[in-house]
Amino acid sequence: MRQNIHPKVNTEGIVCTTCGTRWNITTTRNNLRVEICANCHPFYTGEQRIVDTAGQVDRFMKRLSQTQNRQAEIAKGKTKPEPAPKKSLLKELYGDDA
Ligand SMILES: [Zn+2]
Repeated sequence: MRQNIHPKVNTEGIVCTTCGTRWNITTTRNNLRVEICANCHPFYTGEQRIVDTAGQVDRFMKRLSQTQNRQAEIAKGKTKPEPAPKKSLLKELYGDDA
């Protein structure tokens, strides 16, 4: 084997950040991390759950509760509904047929 031309091989493997499982592979890259693996993915585990690593479900639920609270206040008459969105500048300048 020729010297000093081959990349350094390491066997530390891949670590799943969700469940902490270490998958042993041989690679030339260091510090490999994955967000989900076959050990914790709902398709393989059979359980029904939403995998939300970016917090999108939380953001949606927060927006939903804000909207529901606002609609409840409007229904009680505490708050006025928001005015209709303003016409676009093009429609203001050229009318509705723009
Ligand atoms: Zn995993």
